[in-house]
Amino acid sequence: MSFKDSGLGLHVVFTGAPGCGKGTQARILKEKVAICHLSTGEMLRAEAAKGTPLGLEIKALLDKGEFATDEMIINMVSKRIDEADCKNGFILDGFPRTLHQAEVLDEMLDKKGINLDAVIEIQVPDEIIMERILGRYACMNCGQGYHDKFQKPKVYGVCDVCGGTDFYRRVDDNKTTVQNRLVNYRALTYPTIPYYEKKGLLRCVDGTGTIEAVSNKVDSILGIK
Ligand code: AMP
Repeated sequence: MSFKDSGLGLHVVFTGAPGCGKGTQARILKEKVAICHLSTGEMLRAEAAKGTPLGLEIKALLDKGEFATDEMIINMVSKRIDEADCKNGFILDGFPRTLHQAEVLDEMLDKKGINLDAVIEIQVPDEIIMERILGRYACMNCGQGYHDKFQKPKVYGVCDVCGGTDFYRRVDDNKTTVQNRLVNYRALTYPTIPYYEKKGLLRCVDGTGTIEAVSNKVDSILGIK
């Protein structure tokens, strides 16, 4: 039985080091199965862009590659999950990022009567991660991702998806910050992997193939045709 027939929706976590392709895969899956893509990184960047006192506090953390506080994140995610567009399910991208967040997520989902279907870890070695992150950029208008070497737009300077001509690079996509993000990943996020393995939810995917190859592996894990 596929998740569509079950009537319970699909609730998935994408995890892995920064730059492993979580966001890319989450956007592809979202289009295929019409569920919500909840990226805590995007939520934080949107808050930071508002320039409010909270936004400035968040921006200072993000620019250094430090984590936002669990409290900030947990409230944000809990509210978002209750919104109507999450009724068929969600893909959590970048959350949980600490063991504490994973434990709180369990309690939160218990209260909401939701079960996680899978936690998919996308595995990519650090050397590849650095090259991927330092070359990536996105369309300012529609958010479509590109890469200087691996994924150029068909026409130079023009977005394939929306025709936009303005692009941006994330402020935290620089060598020093990426190194710090990788250290934080190993120390703070990696402990969630054995946590989900013990629960029988962990599925690992080799993230070094093409975007399409990785997406096919994700689909087969989730039983999506
Ligand atoms: P991402 O877009 O997932 O790479 O996240 C960008 C940045 O946002 C991270 O480097 C963290 O500083 C922050 N961030 C994203 N998600 C979380 C989270 N669940 N907990 C704490 N900080 C987070």
